[in-house]
Amino acid sequence: MRAALLREYGAPLQIAEVRVEAPKDGEVLVAIAASGVCGSDLKAIDGKSPVVTHLPCVLGHESAGVVEAVGPGVTSVKPGDHVVVAMNGPCGRCRNCARGRVHLCSGRTRMAAIMGVTADGTTRLSTGDEVVRPYIGIGSFAEKAVVTEAMCVKVDRDAPLDLLALTACGVVTGVGAVLNVARVEPGTSVLVVGCGGVGLNVVQGAVLAGATTIIAADVVESKLDLATRFGATHTVLADDLPKQVGEIVRGGTDYAFDVTGVPEVLAKAFASTQPGGTTVMVGSPAAGKNLEIPPGLLFGSRRLMGTQGGDAVPARDLPLLVGLYRSGRLNLEGLVSERVPLDDVNDAVAHVRSGAVARSVIVFG
Ligand SMILES: [Zn+2]
Ligand SMILES: [Zn+2]
Repeated sequence: MRAALLREYGAPLQIAEVRVEAPKDGEVLVAIAASGVCGSDLKAIDGKSPVVTHLPCVLGHESAGVVEAVGPGVTSVKPGDHVVVAMNGPCGRCRNCARGRVHLCSGRTRMAAIMGVTADGTTRLSTGDEVVRPYIGIGSFAEKAVVTEAMCVKVDRDAPLDLLALTACGVVTGVGAVLNVARVEPGTSVLVVGCGGVGLNVVQGAVLAGATTIIAADVVESKLDLATRFGATHTVLADDLPKQVGEIVRGGTDYAFDVTGVPEVLAKAFASTQPGGTTVMVGSPAAGKNLEIPPGLLFGSRRLMGTQGGDAVPARDLPLLVGLYRSGRLNLEGLVSERVPLDDVNDAVAHVRSGAVARSVIVFG
């Protein structure tokens, strides 16, 4: 099968022929139909991902496809089933899973998958005599992927896989930050800083939660227009954040979401909430930088929270998102700026990097 390989940090991805083995115990071979290109893929290309330590690696982690084969013991999906490939496949048995903190599963298979291997340290991908690692156990910039059964969330066959793919990362991260992490209440005010592929989903999550004031902030005007289409009630071209927000909601908002991962911006989002307000860091931060916030603001009963992927429970949240999409309450088409074939993966990466698009989606014939 063909796959886009990262062979050298900072270099373009290379399309190559990759051998894929049959799925083993508890594994599923998925023919990938579509894969979004996400900021985390860019981080890996730049050599800034702590989980991409061995090359070559197949990137891509926001995907959906059709089950082609299943390994021994797999019972929840069968060949021909359509699935969204969740970013994590919880074990269901570790302490975190037992506490409902499924996104923090520390089971052996899950921890190995994060590093791109199976529990016994092997992978199902190779080229020549080189072992190829799939990014976080997925590797969806490829025609096929071998993933764990727990990552496969079955969906209706008549739903468009190129749109459902987006639920796996960008959508569940944004909407999950609102519904699972902050638990935004109806009638409240929300600030969203950073309106790219994930930020737009924070905006539409806030709409779903019943927030009545949704302020979208970004430094790019076109992204603010997009945020309005997703339900933002106000937009600010961010240059003086707490002040600009205060002019719309006196005293600050009930909730703030930073989707930039920039500590200085997060501090401004935090300062834009009123006493008792909650701020969630949704963006993944660059390493080696500290966050500085005045303790006096924290003393005002403000809360600061982190999240990984919207604290998603795949088997609960992905069907929920698919259902919201199918009932017309979740906009997925509006997130797609372009659809490209695998051969154009480097163009898609460049477009995401330039911030010109919400989501580039690689589609497979
Ligand atoms: Zn992602
Ligand atoms: Zn677990």
